[in-house]
Amino acid sequence: MGNSAKRFLKLFYKNVKEIRAPAPYEVNNLRVICVHCRHDRFDHGFAQLNTALLSFFNLDFANRSANILTCDRCGYVHWFNKDIRKVKM
Ligand SMILES: [Zn+2]
Repeated sequence: MGNSAKRFLKLFYKNVKEIRAPAPYEVNNLRVICVHCRHDRFDHGFAQLNTALLSFFNLDFANRSANILTCDRCGYVHWFNKDIRKVKM
């Protein structure tokens, strides 16, 4: 493997690590604090709200992807149906 390829991989892994690292987030200009343990670092993920149950109850407005913040300390899962913003550290 050439030197430039090695450098690229190193940079790539560093970026992946930073993207995946737990971080503080804001929703509606408010810092997100874990409702269970008051921690402020979260893992960000997405979830489809598209379930048969929601459709059954005619709640199709909820049939879109939601932001999920999982508390880095206690694992409590917070759901947001709005845009969330990562806070720069
Ligand atoms: Zn927590």
